Formats: sequence, structure tokens, C-alpha cells
Amino acid sequence: MHTCYSYDGLIKPKELSYYARKKGVDGVAITDHNRIDGALKIAKQITEIIIIPGIEISSLDGHIVGLNLQEDVPKSLTIEETVEKIHALGGLAVACHPKAFLKSSLGKKTNSKFDAIEVINASAIPFKRSVRQAQEIASSLGVAQVAGSDAHYGPEIGSAYTVIYTVEHDREKIVEAIRKGFCQPLGEAIPLSLRLKREFLALKHKRVLKSSLGSDY
Ligand SMILES: [Zn+2]
Repeated sequence: MHTCYSYDGLIKPKELSYYARKKGVDGVAITDHNRIDGALKIAKQITEIIIIPGIEISSLDGHIVGLNLQEDVPKSLTIEETVEKIHALGGLAVACHPKAFLKSSLGKKTNSKFDAIEVINASAIPFKRSVRQAQEIASSLGVAQVAGSDAHYGPEIGSAYTVIYTVEHDREKIVEAIRKGFCQPLGEAIPLSLRLKREFLALKHKRVLKSSLGSDY
């Protein structure tokens, strides 16, 4: 999910915690676009749910998610360089929404160096087709399958989610379980009404930012 630290996110830390608990998810992975500072800050602030700090990096080949990181991964690297960098930092490399239309997706470049493939992305369009195609990629590569809400707006949190089979609710154990494939992607697409509401709020938010930041924004 994305927070207000992401250029396109609306979710403030308090909302994040409220909606996560309302939906009954035990934790969330924060993956703001090309920055990890917000995720690290929120991970310190929020203790009532598990926060996995991460990042969604714009690589030269498409978006890549790095989970369980403590520092930024540079953008505009190749797919190989990005995955290597995430692994060198001890993180988990996830090919997010590999077949989603209108998102920067890796598509056929997705490879078995990834620890997991996001087969369900709740905001992917067309939803069913992108799920089916991402599942095909994950099965052919034999890597773990996860799901993500890709939430940018509070009520979207938990629309898609990953069940993780681990006894301990510890961040490292959760990441280890995903790496071993002890996980299952579940969930649905974000309803159209919610997407429209989010778009409207995002536009309003952008206008507020624009007027407070001047014409250079
Ligand atoms: Zn993305």
C-alpha cells in the first residue's frame, strides 16, 4: 500500500491503522513510490499492527517492490540491478502487478530471481485477466505468489491480501515464510465506486498541493 508520503497516496498513518484493523488484517507492507522514509517513520509510530517497510521502485523495466528494507533502492536501474540491490540489502524482491494495464509492469521480463510475484493486485485493470496472466507467470517460474491491495486511499486497504503461514507474528518470520512460499494470495478488485471516489479525492488533493506549492509543482 501507499501512504501520504507517496506522491500519489492519500493515506495518513492514523487512517492506515484504523482501516487495517477494521478490515482485520494483521499488518501491511508500505511501498511508497521511490521513497522509504515515510514507511520507516510509520513503522516506528504504529505498533498495533505489523508494518513491513518497503518501497515500490520505478526500474527501467517496470515497477518492482522491495519488502523489509531499511534504506532506499535507487530508481532507474535495470530489473537485474534492482533485484540484486534489494537482495544485497536483505530485502524481498516482488514483481508487482506484472500484467496490469496502465501501470508500469514488468510483463515478460519477470524472472525467477524474484522472491515472489504479486498475482492479485486489487487495482489492476482488467482485474481477472491480470490475475490469470500473473498466476501463469508465477507458476511457470515456480516462485511464491502474493496479493496486494495497492491501496492509495484508506478504505481500499485489505481489498486483496496475503495469508502468511507462520506461527510467529514477527516481521523477519513473515518475510521468511513468503520466501519459502508459505503464503496464499486472496481478495478482490477494488470496487469501481471506491476507485472513482479515490480519483476525485486525489485530484482535490493535487489542487491543494498545487496552490500551496506554487506554479512549479
Ligand atoms: Zn506500481
